Amino acid sequence: MLYDELKLITKKLGFNNIEEFGTYIGVTSAEVLRWQDSDEVPYTVALITHLLKGEKKLPFDPNLDNLIEECLPLAKLLEEASSFPHKLEEMFVLQKTLNDSTNGKNWELGINKFDKEINWLRCIHMEVAELIESTPWKHWKNISSNPDLDNIHIELVDVWHFLMSFLLQETNVPKAVSLVNTHCIYEAVSEIDIKLVVKEAEKLSYIALAIDTGNMPIFSGIERFIDQFFRCCKLSGLSFSWLQKLYIGKNCLNQFRQDNGYKEGVYKKIWDGKEDNVVLIEILNSLEDANFKVVYDRLSSAYKA
Ligand code: MG
Ligand code: MG
Repeated sequence: MLYDELKLITKKLGFNNIEEFGTYIGVTSAEVLRWQDSDEVPYTVALITHLLKGEKKLPFDPNLDNLIEECLPLAKLLEEASSFPHKLEEMFVLQKTLNDSTNGKNWELGINKFDKEINWLRCIHMEVAELIESTPWKHWKNISSNPDLDNIHIELVDVWHFLMSFLLQETNVPKAVSLVNTHCIYEAVSEIDIKLVVKEAEKLSYIALAIDTGNMPIFSGIERFIDQFFRCCKLSGLSFSWLQKLYIGKNCLNQFRQDNGYKEGVYKKIWDGKEDNVVLIEILNSLEDANFKVVYDRLSSAYKA
């Protein structure tokens, strides 16, 4: 494909210019300049534009078919990724609201409403320990048991709560969104190496402790922290979309329990023979896209039924 052709196609796809398209598919502007200089666009890039257009009339060629096959997950991921900034913003706003209500308005100063010190970094460190406890890491006990992957994902969502809180303490919602935005586009692995998951999770703890003990400056630490967190998600097979669904789901269920008399003791935890957590996972699985309102409404109708 020629550079001018790419220009036209990216316009048609709704990008303002090729640089914007480049950012979207994750290539540098230096790379884009190279295409312009040589007046030649790499084949895979041309293919991505075809996939984004949803064009089906490609010439028949088995090599091409293989290439398309390889590009499909990437194209799907890129399509999904366009909704990530919005999803991040919703999560950070929900987390801020939750912290405001449970810890009081001054939690960003590191003190809650009972004058108790808040240490998000230690919270992260402890959740990492829980993650490791979900694996057969001990040499003296249950040495050949299987890792509890579902629980590892739940612990990563717990880490995510605290990591978001730490980012909000150090910055603000828009800044936090832009810091995370570039790190949450990744393809979760399907073959999980549990030893590697433990090792990489430990590095997450290491970063938390290094910042907390003054051995790593906060602002150089933050970027590594975010990067390492999503590396752990990726290696343990947790996609950003599923992380987001689990986060929204958990937040929603907590709110739902409060609204339906949890504190007063009138809330029913078993819905038609199933625990509310189980119903929640079913709902999340059935949704293409999850946001607070949609999940809340689905919980309401399932509870009434
Ligand atoms: Mg003990
Ligand atoms: Mg936990």
